[in-house]
Amino acid sequence: MVSKKSFYAYTHSRPDGSVFYVGKGCGRRAWNFIHGRNPHHRSIIKKHGADNIIVTTYPCENEDAAFELEKVLIAQHPDLANMTDGGEGASGRPISDKVRKAFDDYRKSAPPPSEERRRIAGEIMRKAWETNPAMWENAAKMAEARRGVKRPPHVVEALRKAHKGKNQTGERLAQTLAAQQLAQEAAKAWHSSEEGRKWHEEHGKSCWVNREWVERTCEECGRSFCTPYPTRKKTCDRSCWYKANRRKQGKPVGVRPNRAKPTLLSGKRTVGQ
Ligand SMILES: [Zn+2]
Repeated sequence: MVSKKSFYAYTHSRPDGSVFYVGKGCGRRAWNFIHGRNPHHRSIIKKHGADNIIVTTYPCENEDAAFELEKVLIAQHPDLANMTDGGEGASGRPISDKVRKAFDDYRKSAPPPSEERRRIAGEIMRKAWETNPAMWENAAKMAEARRGVKRPPHVVEALRKAHKGKNQTGERLAQTLAAQQLAQEAAKAWHSSEEGRKWHEEHGKSCWVNREWVERTCEECGRSFCTPYPTRKKTCDRSCWYKANRRKQGKPVGVRPNRAKPTLLSGKRTVGQ
């Protein structure tokens, strides 16, 4: 009997949602972190723990389609080349110029995907989104992981360019809104699940622990203070925050409001009151 293999392309992402590996395979391949992995891959698994790696699969018709999609995914994640030299330590040591150049040369030498290839890849993606609920769950997980993680400037710029002049209308807009609703529902389900809560708890903590405290000067009183949120926090404490807000609204600051109470004469009511 011939077993029907299910082929797919897949990505492995760090807990913060950043993709560090793109591959293709079938069966349980995407979830196998032990066999046939390079030292770079192994060191990332070791650092974050296999349980915390986000696996996203993109089901394909056959092996060829998976191979094509793998190429598209690699092209979509230029940061894959941003590998460390096999030892992703705490500092995430960047690769040497020589290795980076080798990656760049390799990327340039590959021919750009043809119109036909792109169409096929687009179709595979669309089908995956329509038929595989795990796609939505993964998207929700990754969006959650990305929250609070600042995108590097070159990525912000690339996204800005990509979305420029793309005002959706009609059916396209309806599709997007429907997709957003699905994603929201998946996110909701994920958050109320035991697994989701646990993940969120752990991630929230790691996010807080790894934050760098930065020294700033209070805009109100001029004292220096330390904060993990240097762009957001502008005043040293609650009272300065309140004063700064009043100043912004053009209200008097540091002046006691006139709260003189009407005096009662020996507690007696005057006639007529
Ligand atoms: Zn202050």
